[in-house]
Amino acid sequence: MGRSQAVPKGRDPRFGPGADDAGCTILHVDMDAFFASVAVRAQPELRGRPVIVGGVGPRGVVSSASYEARRFGVRSAMPTARARALCPRGVFLPVDGPAIGEASRAVMAIFRDVTPLVEPLSSDEAFLDVAGARRLLGSPTEIAGLIRRRMQDEQRLTCSVGVAPTKFVAKLGSTRAKPDGLIVVPGALVLEFLHPLPVDALWGVGERAAETLRRLGLTTVGEIAHAPVGMLRGALGEAAAVHLHELAWGRDPRGVSPEREEKSIGAEMTYDTDVADPAVIRKSLLALADKVGARLRAAGVVGRTVAIKVRLADFRTVNRSRTVHTSTDVAREIFEISWSLFTALGAREHIRLVGVRVEGLTPAATTSRQLSLGEPERGWREAEAARDAVVARFGPGGLSPASLLGRSDLRRTENHPHSTVVPLSDPPSPS
Ligand SMILES: [Mg+2]
Repeated sequence: MGRSQAVPKGRDPRFGPGADDAGCTILHVDMDAFFASVAVRAQPELRGRPVIVGGVGPRGVVSSASYEARRFGVRSAMPTARARALCPRGVFLPVDGPAIGEASRAVMAIFRDVTPLVEPLSSDEAFLDVAGARRLLGSPTEIAGLIRRRMQDEQRLTCSVGVAPTKFVAKLGSTRAKPDGLIVVPGALVLEFLHPLPVDALWGVGERAAETLRRLGLTTVGEIAHAPVGMLRGALGEAAAVHLHELAWGRDPRGVSPEREEKSIGAEMTYDTDVADPAVIRKSLLALADKVGARLRAAGVVGRTVAIKVRLADFRTVNRSRTVHTSTDVAREIFEISWSLFTALGAREHIRLVGVRVEGLTPAATTSRQLSLGEPERGWREAEAARDAVVARFGPGGLSPASLLGRSDLRRTENHPHSTVVPLSDPPSPS
């Protein structure tokens, strides 16, 4: 059964703004083609044209495509080369990290004006619990309308909203409302909404699980709901079977948790051509550690585990990590550990991608950072904090020339939302 015929459309009045939203206190708000829309907003002459934002190098990946570009079959996560073939007259742009960051903060600020109970899922979407906001702002549908209007008036961006009794259904609602739409799923109609959907609409069902279910003859959510749990258990295991069965009956007890903290912060880069030269890898790890350090400091967190990811030319991926005694947000420390993890690998193969990640995050304010005797890293930390201040004020362009990075390195990370590479300034001499 195809998605198109099975799915209730936004125009279906049963799920329109007139629907009974009494118990629908969860909103899922998702910006439409966010990166592309932010790019069009900055360059209005692009309005109406197919705009594709992402990695523009030979191995770049599409981050976001305007709806005009989607008509050509362009989708996010598609290789940019494929998008170029599908849409040769498209406008291809790199991700403007600072502009996206600023737009994201403005979007989240509108959400937080409505309720403090905001759980961001990414830079451009969040769950909102509006139960407590109803007295002041009106029904959930009215609140959704208010958010959509403010987004348009203040940010000149459109978003889509799902209004439902649970997070899971609200998220499905916003997806079906796209673009620039609103879907309300009344409690009494949750199963009518849910059951015609394909199985991969259920959270946790990826391609492989969907294939397993299809082989059992289960293609829709409704068929999962009515399948014997024993059959699901045999195919998927106990935990997944119970989880899917609950979701298929519209049961999702998870609340909106505004404290949802990032568990790790990382960055990675894909090379335009595979790299074997350790000096190039070293530079990349420096740049990545630098970026991760800046993001840790911006988020006010430190972490004890530093991990690297190395993808070889044949796509095998190697992960290595080390947990250290003292939590850090210092790029120089993150780099030293990353580099020693990398050299310990003794990789002789060509490398396609490297990544650096810091895990085990805790708030910097409440984590004691025992400095070792002589505090040799002190100079680094202060230099990096000083640079954060310059970046905050003038943007990455206000910094010293990219002494460590060639232009080609700078080009490579464009397909990641937060991956504008900030060049490392000259290291301070440890005092
Ligand atoms: Mg979005």
